[in-house]
Amino acid sequence: MRELVGIGASPGYALGPVHTIRLATIVPRRRAVAVKDVPVEIERFRVAVERAREQIRELSDRLSSELGADEGAILASQLLILEDEMVWDATLAVIRLERINAEAAFARTVGDLAARFLEIEDATFRERVNDLRDVEQRVLRGFADGAVAGPVPPPVPSVICSRNLTPSDTAALGRHNVLGFVMDEGGNTSHVAILARSLGVPAVVGLRGGAAALAPGQVVAVDGTEGRVLVDPDEETRLRVGVLTRQQVVVNEKLAYLRDLPAVSPDGRRVHMMANIELPVEVEEALARGAEGIGLLRTEYLFFQHGTIPTEDEQTLVYTEIVRRMAGRPVIFRTLDVGGDKVSDYLGAKREYNPFLGWRGIRFSLANRVLFKTQIKAIYRAATAGSAKLMFPMITGLEELRQAREVCAEAMVELAREGRPHAPDLPVGIMIETPSAVLAADLLARECDFFSIGTNDLIQYTLAMDRGNSRVSYLYRPLHPAVLRALKRTIDAAHEAGIWAGLCGEMSAETRLAEVLFGLGLDEISTHGAALPKIKQVIRWTPWDEARSVVTHLMTMRTADEADAWLADYIATRKRERVTEGETA
Ligand code: PEP
Ligand code: MG
Repeated sequence: MRELVGIGASPGYALGPVHTIRLATIVPRRRAVAVKDVPVEIERFRVAVERAREQIRELSDRLSSELGADEGAILASQLLILEDEMVWDATLAVIRLERINAEAAFARTVGDLAARFLEIEDATFRERVNDLRDVEQRVLRGFADGAVAGPVPPPVPSVICSRNLTPSDTAALGRHNVLGFVMDEGGNTSHVAILARSLGVPAVVGLRGGAAALAPGQVVAVDGTEGRVLVDPDEETRLRVGVLTRQQVVVNEKLAYLRDLPAVSPDGRRVHMMANIELPVEVEEALARGAEGIGLLRTEYLFFQHGTIPTEDEQTLVYTEIVRRMAGRPVIFRTLDVGGDKVSDYLGAKREYNPFLGWRGIRFSLANRVLFKTQIKAIYRAATAGSAKLMFPMITGLEELRQAREVCAEAMVELAREGRPHAPDLPVGIMIETPSAVLAADLLARECDFFSIGTNDLIQYTLAMDRGNSRVSYLYRPLHPAVLRALKRTIDAAHEAGIWAGLCGEMSAETRLAEVLFGLGLDEISTHGAALPKIKQVIRWTPWDEARSVVTHLMTMRTADEADAWLADYIATRKRERVTEGETA
């Protein structure tokens, strides 16, 4: 039995065979480049090679320390390929002379080299072809261009293991036969982590090489709560995981009584508890857990599942079905948020050097106005089946909000002209997930109907930590003084302008933070179904005044460590008091 330690990204336990998903082979498209762009292509090549090199080094170190120097040395030979002058010179020559894009030039160089190796009657050279191909794919992933086939779902209940999965791969897998996720890359707000939580399956991410090294069929025990994976678990561990899984079911059953009760504190302050969903299949789970509505529908996942751009009628059909099933409870449709780590070839959002600072969210939609307007029209039409709201992602200032609202106005005019039934004047809100939106919250609040704070991105941008990078995931600190101040400032600005404020980032699912969110004065908390009852329970226990004084106290803390320690201590004391109160009552 061997233990791998990573980041617990979705709580719970699973036991099952490994289903390996190897990232699909990338075949780059050839593209002509102008003479002036040749240096750009050379720089792109350099960056892609550097990324691949970095990845190989990391993997090699890990394999050496866990499996021995020999395993690490296998990858060291891949590093030599990347440093080989022949590979560099040949690639640069193809870019310069044929004036084609760097990825196509590199793939050609590797292809030529592999063909030469295969002609040599020596097994060592033939083996090197595999290394070459592996290196080729790593570098091409640095560019991430080309057609990528979706993953194959597991034929039997299994634990999905991979280096990384894109949100579109995860969406394509769905939940059938998926017991859990075990990934080499990613942090706890990366999208595979979010989807795992939404699906209610455990996930461990950031294993840095440990996941890809697992063999298909090998049995693993996943502890998504502690971030551990036990490989080839012994009988005792298997029994323990079985007990823990059953205990989880019992806890959920105990919390089921909360389903139809509101999240109201003992002194009468109410918070609306909503669910975050990505796919229509999650609607039933949201309702079963007592969601009062959908606080965040990440519509991009519907696009990823579709595989091509859905038409207005196709979108209307899917959106209407969700609104109808929510039976009058509001559904907040967040318009497409592609870009960042949510790339999709067919939508034209490609990987960039700095994707989270690049062409994502509202920037992408405003640049693709027809696509954007089509989606908005479909949402207006679907709203006739119940209650819906519109929300824009990644807003950084009023210009974007105003332009987006202009598209809404055009959409309404067109729908009226076409004589299509639609619900005019839907409430329009924005995600507050950039520091600039926080700083301009007072201005933004005057021109929209609500705020929803996206802490996954807000923490990423405020603390300058890539949410998908396991090496910096230790910087994800919801109680960092800068984050707490950003939250407070946003919520206060909303209330001063007379609009409501919600929060839909992953920190909404942390039970220890529920009282803090309540005390900050949020009107709505949107989280994934599995976490909803526990958060509701905390609010039902906590007087509003007490929650406010917790926040007042936390606001005086100077570091995230101080704040975490103080809160842990406070919760432990309150728990003891509650037990005593319960005993004497
Ligand atoms: C967020 O950023 O907190 C959020 C809810 O949006 P996403 O995770 O989809 O970026
Ligand atoms: Mg976001």
